[in-house]
Amino acid sequence: RLQLADAHKLEPALTRDGQRVEICANLGDCAGAAKAVAQGAEGVGLLRTEFIFMAHPQAPDLATQEAEYRRVFDALDGRPLVARTLDVGGDKPLPYWPLPEEENPFLGVRGVRLTLQRPHLMETQLRALMRASDGRPLRIMFPMVGTVEEWRQARDMALRVATEIPQADLQLGIMVEVPSAALIAPALAREVDFFSIGTNDLTQYCLAIDRGHPTLSAQADGLHPAVLQLIDLTVRAAHAQGKWVGVCGELAGDPLAVPLLVGLGVDELSLSAGGIAEVKARVREFSASAARELAQAALALDSAAAVRELAEHF
Ligand code: PEP
Ligand code: MG
Repeated sequence: RLQLADAHKLEPALTRDGQRVEICANLGDCAGAAKAVAQGAEGVGLLRTEFIFMAHPQAPDLATQEAEYRRVFDALDGRPLVARTLDVGGDKPLPYWPLPEEENPFLGVRGVRLTLQRPHLMETQLRALMRASDGRPLRIMFPMVGTVEEWRQARDMALRVATEIPQADLQLGIMVEVPSAALIAPALAREVDFFSIGTNDLTQYCLAIDRGHPTLSAQADGLHPAVLQLIDLTVRAAHAQGKWVGVCGELAGDPLAVPLLVGLGVDELSLSAGGIAEVKARVREFSASAARELAQAALALDSAAAVRELAEHF
């Protein structure tokens, strides 16, 4: 089965009834882009830009960042790049930026909350991404957005940079990984170009379980119906405004979750490149209409275990 999947990894993933699901790669470094394309990625759905900041003893300057992003664009050869702005704080500290000790760093100054406090740094990153794009499809998303004010501040900053460096194909969106963003998705969907659902943090914050907790993390299951409800809200709000939705958390690479996500209407799945052939093969196994029925049934269940059992019989 895997051999067969591998033979078709470079072809698009269509459900049996012809619905296309875009399959992209999550990247934790710029060097992996060419390999991801060879493994069937139709673009990069999540570039975790943190690595550039962690790989240097000081904050990388404009030229350093631009060169790194350019490498990804070159490898993608016209395929879209979804770059996430720096997402540190919480579990991801930076050596040269001693952040104040916080009692609950996961509920503290992290993601876009941090970069909005450091506009110079955020602007440099946006400028580097826009200079590197050279007319190629660039999608920029902001992590940990929980309010419309955060989105608008980040968007306005990006739009200011875009007037300076005109973009032929730029979209601006947010990661939906804070439950409040999912709950106000109808308002956000009017203003963003896209959503990308970060199921790792969305699950953590929805279920109030630390994603890395030594004994509880196994219970932080993205297939919990409460998380599925948030995904459902997000997708319906986006589609009502004609916007697309991706999933870039771990769930996107879980073959059991794939029909549920497609059934909820997700347009794009982004996962580590090694899993792309298998996820594409999984998409080809079912029809979108059956997946929609499955998803509706899952939304009515009361536990992650019940959802997993249902999905196993699909
Ligand atoms: C997520 O939260 O689901 C996500 C994709 O981002 P990260 O794992 O980098 O926090
Ligand atoms: Mg996250």
